[in-house]
Formats: sequence, C-alpha cells, structure tokens
Amino acid sequence: MGQRTFTIIKPDSVGGNHIGEILTMIEKAGFRIIALKMTYLSRSDAEKFYYVHKGRPFFRNLYLFMTSGPIVAAVLEKEGAQDAVAEFRELIGKTNPELAAEGTIRKKFAASKTRNAIHASDSDENAAWEAAFFFPDKEIIDTKYELPLPEDEIDSD
Ligand code: ATP
Ligand code: MG
Repeated sequence: MGQRTFTIIKPDSVGGNHIGEILTMIEKAGFRIIALKMTYLSRSDAEKFYYVHKGRPFFRNLYLFMTSGPIVAAVLEKEGAQDAVAEFRELIGKTNPELAAEGTIRKKFAASKTRNAIHASDSDENAAWEAAFFFPDKEIIDTKYELPLPEDEIDSD
C-alpha cells in the first residue's frame, strides 16, 4: 500500500470557513500537503469525478452539493505510512456523520450524509486517478525543506 492519498474539502466546509482547521487536523495527523488548490467543480466535472455513483438514488444530491460552492483539492503524503489511504479514511470518519467516531473530521464538521465536509480516496489506484484529475505532475511537489547552505553561512554578514 502507498503513502499518498487525495482529498477534497467540500463546499460546506469551505463556506463554513473551516479550511484552516481541517488542514490543521490533516497536518497534525502526520500528512504533508504536497498539492493544494481552491477551485470549483462544474456539473460535468462532478459527474466524471463521481461516475462510480451514477445511477444511485443520492447521485443528484451529490453533484448538486459538490457544485454548490468552491472546494479545496489536495494531495497528501504520509511518510512511513503502511496504507495512507486507509489511515486518512480513519481520520475523516464514516460517510454518515452520525456514525463518525469522536475526533474525526466528519464528526466535527459534517452536518449530514450529503453535507459531509470532506472527501477521501478509497484505494491507491483511485487516489492516483483523483490526484491527476486536479493536478498536473508538476503541481505535486516535495514540500520537505532544507536550508541550501549551513545556517552559520546563511546568517553571516
Ligand atoms: P467520499 O467519496 O465523498 O469521500 P465516502 O467515500 O465516505 O465519501 P461514498 O460511498 O464514496 O462515500 O459516497 C460518495 C458520497 O456520496 C458521500 O460522501 C456522500 O455525500 C454521498 N452518499 C453516499 N451514500 C449516500 C447515501 N446513502 N445517502 C446520501 N448520500 C450518500
Ligand atoms: Mg468515496
């Protein structure tokens, strides 16, 4: 299993001014944000993104909700993770917020099965496909930072 996954902070969370708090929970759980953008889904984007659910009774609510306001898409990496996709799904909690565990993002921010705050990929394969749906390769970035010179050389004047 891999060390990457993909997430969307959904329109309810963006509109509710919770982007920062959700990203903080993600970082505190040990994930690095290696790609990030605020954008909108068109109806055709939303239908493509959630094509596996086409025909399900909730599909109309799903695309209406996902196109109702801006979203924040991100690619996440957890170094040393056995299975970043599964670990991140633990952090977001169950689809139905009434069933989401204490301490999860959905427990804290989701209002209903539709307005459930955040999306997470459900397999390594889907994580790669979903990341590529939003980000070209060059926008997925190794964010670890090292000073280009030793500190005493950088600070000397
Ligand atoms: P997401 O894919 O958004 O991360 P999920 O993986 O927990 O959520 P899925 O089964 O993939 O859940 O369903 C995708 C989305 O469709 C859910 O987030 C939810 O908003 C909506 N959905 C799924 N099942 C239902 C349902 N029974 N009633 C209403 N909405 C539903
Ligand atoms: Mg899903």
